[in-house]
Amino acid sequence: MTRISGSSKHLRTSGDPYVKREDGVTEALLITIDGPSGAGKSTAGRALAKRLECNYIDTGALYRGVAYESKRAGIRPNDDEGLKRLCAGLDLSFSIGESGLRLMSGGNDITDSIRSSEIAMDASTVSAQPSVRSYLLTLQRRLAQHKRAVFEGRDMGTVVFPDADVKFYLDASLNIRAKRRYDELRKHSTRNLQEVETDLKKRDEQDRTRALSPLKPAKDAVRIDSSGLTLDEVVDTMIACIR
Ligand code: C5P
Repeated sequence: MTRISGSSKHLRTSGDPYVKREDGVTEALLITIDGPSGAGKSTAGRALAKRLECNYIDTGALYRGVAYESKRAGIRPNDDEGLKRLCAGLDLSFSIGESGLRLMSGGNDITDSIRSSEIAMDASTVSAQPSVRSYLLTLQRRLAQHKRAVFEGRDMGTVVFPDADVKFYLDASLNIRAKRRYDELRKHSTRNLQEVETDLKKRDEQDRTRALSPLKPAKDAVRIDSSGLTLDEVVDTMIACIR
């Protein structure tokens, strides 16, 4: 397994096979994808990173990781002071293994514990807290150092990487996004399509209206509506823009 670490405790990038190009030259390339839940950012981001032979970083997983750890520690997701103390002792990082990108917290793989609707909603609440945004801003920028990477999230092009090489804003209609999220969750959740749509609407509203780093397209982002597009068509459009 390769560790992509940006935490202050483990600032290491060595041994990362994705950093080097075929010619052996390490060349930074930063692509950002922002947009609401269910727009297809993760699937497109992963596929794009594969085509570009670079890292894919799902920053939503970091917010979910903070939400998961805060729940375990009994800290409310809107308790900014409590979250500040929690973040001071957190050690979140990514590993790339055979099963893809894994989120590690200390020595524990928490990837499968952060995907529930409850953690998603808590992630949206913790993401509005200044201490969490500040902690993850530093961590995300460290993760990007000297790397070729596709970063996916809500504020990648607007706040975290305003100088990214190419920025995308991926969107889709509410019913299509809800159906995608429902298909993703159905293996682990009993929530029906209507409930998933209601959750998604609430979370997007919270993400769009928060004071800090609200979800919105960067001025220089290329906007793509994935509603009527296949995954290949989305990725081809992105590759054409990058070229
Ligand atoms: O993308 P995902 O659904 O996993 O994100 C979970 C939550 O994390 C989002 O609803 C959003 O509130 C927050 N988030 C954020 N900024 C990012 C990525 C995610 O605020 N860059």
